[in-house]
Amino acid sequence: MTRKVSMFIDGQSVISESADWLDVTDPATQEVICQVPLATADEMERAIASAKKAFETWKDVPVTQRARMMLNFQHLLKKHHDELAEILAEETGKNFEDAKGDVWRGIEVAEHAANIPSMMMGETVENVASKVDTYSLIQPLGVCAGITPFNFPAMIPLWMFPMAVVCGNTFVLKPSEQDPNTPMRLAELFYEAGFPKDVLQVVHGGKDQVDQILNHKDIEAISFVGSVPVGEHIYKTGTDNLKRVQAFAGAKNHMVVMPDANKNQVINNIAGSACGAAGQRCMAISVAVLVGEAKNWIDDIKGKMSEMKPGYWKNPESFYGPLISPQAKARVEALIAKGVEEGADLLLDGRGLEVEGYPNGNWMGPSLFHNVTTDMSIYQEEIFGPVLCVMTADSLEEAIELINNNPYGNGTSLFTSSGAAARKFQHDIKVGQVGINIPIPVPLPFFSFTGWRKSFYGDQHAYGKQAVRFYTETKTVTARWFEDDIPHDAAPNATINL
Ligand code: NAD
Repeated sequence: MTRKVSMFIDGQSVISESADWLDVTDPATQEVICQVPLATADEMERAIASAKKAFETWKDVPVTQRARMMLNFQHLLKKHHDELAEILAEETGKNFEDAKGDVWRGIEVAEHAANIPSMMMGETVENVASKVDTYSLIQPLGVCAGITPFNFPAMIPLWMFPMAVVCGNTFVLKPSEQDPNTPMRLAELFYEAGFPKDVLQVVHGGKDQVDQILNHKDIEAISFVGSVPVGEHIYKTGTDNLKRVQAFAGAKNHMVVMPDANKNQVINNIAGSACGAAGQRCMAISVAVLVGEAKNWIDDIKGKMSEMKPGYWKNPESFYGPLISPQAKARVEALIAKGVEEGADLLLDGRGLEVEGYPNGNWMGPSLFHNVTTDMSIYQEEIFGPVLCVMTADSLEEAIELINNNPYGNGTSLFTSSGAAARKFQHDIKVGQVGINIPIPVPLPFFSFTGWRKSFYGDQHAYGKQAVRFYTETKTVTARWFEDDIPHDAAPNATINL
């Protein structure tokens, strides 16, 4: 019988009463790994109610204790690093090195979250008036919720609940229904680390369950990562319901290549960042803009990309794995067909690729388009596959203008040996995360993950100081303590001044 994925509600591991279950499949074989429920409305309600109740005691647990529990969690994540990566690789198809990277980037957030006492410090000004002091307190919000995508089932849940709970909130996590086993194992380790079980609730589902979160009066803040249409729905509905929302969405990341760049580095980095994780990364490079003489490097790019071989995650030769589902594969294939129809030159066609021993996998070979223009669907839409669009520009200014006219603003990168070009690029570009000779500039957790424009809706970003602001309120206290009594018949102070 197929294993059923449980949920964590009110401190218990629960098998859903739902009549609706989805198959979770190995994307390299289509074998059903397990089934995941679409939680019932009653189960969702119980999870949120339990998180609300847990908040009443959790918020008063000393911050140092919360930090120590987070250190335990970080230790357990490290101890179970490879085990987590195996669970993750099986359900996403990511090769083992990439799966380990997914886990590790999440561990770094837990590590950072353990520094919470210094991040929750308020500010004080003594003597704002005579013998009057003003100071600020940083306090948690209540029940926060997280809705996460399939492509980083360890890292992205770990962007959210560790930061939220160390701030003193409780959390309801609704992971992607496509790979729920990794986040479930994260939750087990979280409880093992000593956190009260009702501080983190894990529920499963899709649109209906998310809508219940969006419309629930007891949810204070929502963190979302996923596609643009869903992100827009979540941001609009959540903020309409007067909730605090951060929604990280899709991307179209450009790499600009100047002719003075180190050519071998460029070729290697383009191929790796376009095809790694089968292009299913929100920071993948999906457009290369070759400037001036760098236009002549197209054959080298083609040569390197054609060396990138997909394969099963256990095979150390596999550079990347399959796409997550047959639907994702069909979507990428349809976009490639559209690119051809709209007039781009398809120099490498990854459609129809087979991997020996895995005839049913969602494989897609590296695909390379040249002479792409801004009106084409392959330029306008996020492809989310191992597909690189190559464009050309006569100058750095022209490349910057192209990128700034693109609606997305997640990541971008410039390859050059000119400090002046780099300085101009980092200043003028309207993208939130910039790499200089770095193809995928994901910041470490003491910074924040700062997508812009259509790639992010909200104000405060993920992890770092911004996450602490997102998951807390600031209370400002103005206080005085009387040393001397005043005469009984003294005139009352009629002003609002101190
Ligand atoms: P998705 O939008 O399909 O799903 C994300 C989450 O939303 C899942 O938990 C899913 O169950 C839920 N969901 C799906 N449809 C919904 C609906 N109609 N209403 C409410 N909830 C719904 O995204 P995905 O395919 O899982 O992930 C890939 C996308 O995520 C890509 O667009 C990628 O760029 C983006 N992404 C962005 C970042 C970032 O930081 N900007 C990071 C990772 C992934």
